[in-house]
Amino acid sequence: LSRSSTMGGGAPCRKKLALALFPRISPDNYSWSSLSRAQQKMVLRREELTFKWQNKRNLGAIFSSDCEEKVFVRDGAEAQPCSSCQGLRKLHTFQVVLNRRMPDEANYKFVPKSFRCPELGRIYLKYEGVWKLIEEDDGRTPWLRFAKGAADGVYKSQEVVLGMVEAMVAKAERVLKGKSLKNMHYSGALDTFCSMLASI
Ligand SMILES: [Zn+2]
Repeated sequence: LSRSSTMGGGAPCRKKLALALFPRISPDNYSWSSLSRAQQKMVLRREELTFKWQNKRNLGAIFSSDCEEKVFVRDGAEAQPCSSCQGLRKLHTFQVVLNRRMPDEANYKFVPKSFRCPELGRIYLKYEGVWKLIEEDDGRTPWLRFAKGAADGVYKSQEVVLGMVEAMVAKAERVLKGKSLKNMHYSGALDTFCSMLASI
């Protein structure tokens, strides 16, 4: 999950999707920017529909698009992912993503815009260090990583906190997709953290 900020993967390439959707476009003349905004939107929607897997960041899990949703578990045994989800490991496109090297922070700005959340991209570019805090997966929460970094004097300014809060909110917003932010419930930990900040 930390390797990508897309909502899923395994879809045919965008050129393929676009040419299938708009047969009038000749393959030789195709470029992403030659599509109208509406066409680009259609391609992105089709892409999401054809994802072979779904990245569920809020759950820290990746599901197969064909997830069986039910598994049989013996008493006392731990539940395993269903066979479709486990089958992802054997999927070539999935392996390719797994084996891809993580982009360095310095290179992150070169990740094509449409492949990532533009809001997050903006935040990562603005605040140095936030990308690592939010996207690195070492089993600890970003808050813990931040606390450790702050104690070690890693951050030169309080800006990093701002950036991290902004990024967490942007992520939560994406998770809520389409739901109003006004009713958003911040976690207790974040609440405490924010009031702590206010008292510094
Ligand atoms: Zn499954």
